[in-house]
Amino acid sequence: MSESTRAPTLDRSPLKAVKGMNDILPPASARWAWLEARVRDLMRRYAYQEVRTPIVEPTPLFVRGLGEVTDIVEKEMYSFVDSLNGDALSLRPEATAGVVRAAIEHALLHDGGKRLFYLGPMFRHERPQRGRYRQFHQVGVEALGFAGPDVDAEVILMARALWQDLGLADLRLEINSLGQPDERRAHRAALVAHFEAHRELLDADALRRLHSNPLRILDTKNPAMQPLVEAAPKLIDYLGEASLAHLDAVRAVLDAVGQPYRINPRLVRGMDYYNLTVFEWVTDRLGAQGTVCGGGRYDGLVEMVGGKPAPAVGWALGVERVLDLLQHDGVEVPAERPDVYAIVPDAGALAPATRVAETLRAAGVAVQLHAGGGSMKSQFRRADASGARWALIFGADELARGEVAVKPLRDATAAQTTRALADAAAWALTLRDA
Ligand code: ATP
Ligand code: MG
Repeated sequence: MSESTRAPTLDRSPLKAVKGMNDILPPASARWAWLEARVRDLMRRYAYQEVRTPIVEPTPLFVRGLGEVTDIVEKEMYSFVDSLNGDALSLRPEATAGVVRAAIEHALLHDGGKRLFYLGPMFRHERPQRGRYRQFHQVGVEALGFAGPDVDAEVILMARALWQDLGLADLRLEINSLGQPDERRAHRAALVAHFEAHRELLDADALRRLHSNPLRILDTKNPAMQPLVEAAPKLIDYLGEASLAHLDAVRAVLDAVGQPYRINPRLVRGMDYYNLTVFEWVTDRLGAQGTVCGGGRYDGLVEMVGGKPAPAVGWALGVERVLDLLQHDGVEVPAERPDVYAIVPDAGALAPATRVAETLRAAGVAVQLHAGGGSMKSQFRRADASGARWALIFGADELARGEVAVKPLRDATAAQTTRALADAAAWALTLRDA
């Protein structure tokens, strides 16, 4: 290393977050925590268990798992070489491949199927815009080892239950079947013939995929190609009896619980690993990024990642898109605020105030203890701004009598009272349950 690179830097210009990667700060972070709590409760009620897999995985996991000719693998992955050992690594662009790798590596399926969920950041090098970021967050479920179609319906209904819990109305369900590989082969030949006949209308991506992965062309976001995609042969017309029966069985459950859906024969998903049931939950209320949740069956993936073949189905939802929708629909999320703001008029009050605050906190009351001194007036201003319901005032006169003043901050009709310091554990409960 040269002398100059070792010298301490004098550059003090402000550093910014990486483009497309967002800080999640208060008060917005409270909305995230609230959503995550709803998600965890949903998973508990459906008996899905959490898995946490690494953010960084070997690059071949995604190349093999998602397919080489996919948007993600072709142009969206943050891939790099570990400079210490030369390993090819990637930030995870999605979590299904990692969950499946972990399930195989730890023989999770040795005693039957597993219902799993995850929650966390994903990374894709896309053009940042509303609802599309380079670090974004997904909640996902993976039911491994179940051939369906009952479990296909189960995971779809879990998403529905989440929309209900969150107070989100009007998310539409679209479903399709991608059949099995042999059915896709027959369809693929017809698809290639269709696109070949209209070669002049294909964009560069489509031309490249024409022979490598023509199904992917149906997933194009290029509006100019929509008419051509609309006119393309439909995979659903190439499905055999078993695939159609699987789809019908999923539909029967949805019908039985009154969940409306639209069969969308154009629905293909962004990864190669899907087969049979695929679905998306969509909305018109988010502009161009209208898919909130997508998933389907991926019976081939476990084997592709090196495990004994096992069926699987799952979905992933975009947390930012769900939060955007909650905001759009004006869904109120409880704000994070302390129950109590403790006012510390002078240094002599700190010890008793701290003792009471600790007692209250141990009883479950949220207490913000004033720090940094200042006048009573400025402390009351802080107490108000905190949103607390009560101020505890540790004034010298009250303390001399072994008491503290309790002033209601949100209810103008309620009177200020005093409480005995020695009984804090008892009245903490009345504050907590008020
Ligand atoms: P899109 O068609 O919008 O690119 P996708 O098919 O690539 O989505 P999936 O890989 O199925 O998305 O991921 C599931 C969900 O994750 C999406 O429905 C969306 O809500 C969310 N999502 C995907 N990519 C992003 C991103 N770059 N930023 C924010 N959310 C995203
Ligand atoms: Mg995408």
